Amino acid sequence: MLGLRFFACNVCETVMAAPVEPSQCHDCHDEDIAEISEMLQSDAYFTRAQN
Ligand SMILES: [Zn+2]
Repeated sequence: MLGLRFFACNVCETVMAAPVEPSQCHDCHDEDIAEISEMLQSDAYFTRAQN
């Protein structure tokens, strides 16, 4: 990991990976961004390819 954190747009549900929270959604440019890093790490969501 390179310190990437995961964020999801609450409007269009686009998921973004960035070291810091984006000021706005990369897709719809709304500012309603939520960090989901902890959700993903406690889930099996991104761990399936690692084995
Ligand atoms: Zn969006």
